[in-house]
Amino acid sequence: MRRLILLLTLLPFAAQAQTNAQFEKWFEPATLRFDYHHAGDATTEEYFFDELRREPHWAGSRTTLIDDTGFGSQMFRIVDAATGQTIYSRTYCTLWNEWQFTAEAKQLRKSMPESVVFPLPKNEVRIEFHTRDRNGAWVKKYEQSIDPRSYFIAQYPLRHETFDVEINGAPEHTVDIVLLPEGYTAAERKKFEQAAKNFARDIFSYEPYRELRKKFNIRAVWTPSQDSGVTMPGAGEWRNTSAKASFWTFDSERYQMTEDFQNLRDQAAHVPYELIYVLSNSDKYGGGGIYNFYALSSAGDYTSRAGVYIHEFGHLLLGLGDEYIGGVSYDEQSMYPAHREPWEVNLTTLVDFESKAWSRMLPEGTPIPTPLTRPAPIHITDPKATAPPPMESVRADELGVYEGGGYVTKGVYRPWPNCLMNNLHTIGEFCPVCEAGIRNHIEFLCR
Ligand SMILES: [Zn+2]
Repeated sequence: MRRLILLLTLLPFAAQAQTNAQFEKWFEPATLRFDYHHAGDATTEEYFFDELRREPHWAGSRTTLIDDTGFGSQMFRIVDAATGQTIYSRTYCTLWNEWQFTAEAKQLRKSMPESVVFPLPKNEVRIEFHTRDRNGAWVKKYEQSIDPRSYFIAQYPLRHETFDVEINGAPEHTVDIVLLPEGYTAAERKKFEQAAKNFARDIFSYEPYRELRKKFNIRAVWTPSQDSGVTMPGAGEWRNTSAKASFWTFDSERYQMTEDFQNLRDQAAHVPYELIYVLSNSDKYGGGGIYNFYALSSAGDYTSRAGVYIHEFGHLLLGLGDEYIGGVSYDEQSMYPAHREPWEVNLTTLVDFESKAWSRMLPEGTPIPTPLTRPAPIHITDPKATAPPPMESVRADELGVYEGGGYVTKGVYRPWPNCLMNNLHTIGEFCPVCEAGIRNHIEFLCR
């Protein structure tokens, strides 16, 4: 009996040893980076190869090699050429895919530089890019063979200084965030260092991050800008800055993003990292976050800064959906089509609600949809808004299935009347569905 108990307690370790053996069989603990251009218009989507790079660190899990989350609008996988076995995959979203929903995408064709990273394969592999069709199924759009021994794989010397903000464990068992500065000049280094400390303090002041703090490492790369501040096209202010960010992305003043993701990867590669968060030197409300891509927001003094960090980080970490109505400059009506279930853990169209963990969390007898017992506090924001929505104190709400969310008033449902993914409060909470999703995903990344 004792032996059996011993065996049982060793089982999880045996499973981990097995998958670590898989990592060692297929990969070296370094990064191979595939740069490409994502191009097309509202109805077409193409991928064009740019460059392969070898980078020194690999911060990702050595156990979770295959992504089974079901998240994202994009997916890439690495297939062993000799056996045809998929040895690595990850899901993600991109700024280009958001642009596809803008009015501009109906008028013209556009490309953006993008990039994916994976552990350095030992043998010849094939990379495949998949996107979702209108029913949400994955469709392969591009593939290319990669010989990891090719002497055309670029290796650039690292040239920026880095510093640790908070280190809690080995990179393969933690979520590794890299903070990049935007619009801080050489003379403003201390200001950026303080912004990095504030970011850690702000993120870890919210649950479940406070409780799971030991699962995170935060490092920063110091890349000073020529000019101080951030480009504001709508105000006629243009600046030469390290992340090339700007307000007025897709003509929404508060949407502060950069189109050059490869440039962010160049900077991030100086440290072991999985998630990129860019802190911009601005006191102006604004930012954005995209699942497993990057997030960016103002690090200056404005009242909702912590709420913005926590909201955008929710998009970046696991692609939490926006639970609010309106407020974006793309076509809201086509973001969550009525005939399919969204992949986001905190939104449903009720097409396949049973597939969601949320459906098993509802108190018995909860009516679907759930009527609001008090006036709907959902926020209807204006894409031209220059200030955060008014603050309210959020109290623990009743978990249900409330109509309104995902930018629309009808046909998309949210779990709580007022979660942090609905409104950016300096004092607020995630609904239980978002919180459970965050906990699960951190577990997925840290295995
Ligand atoms: Zn929520």
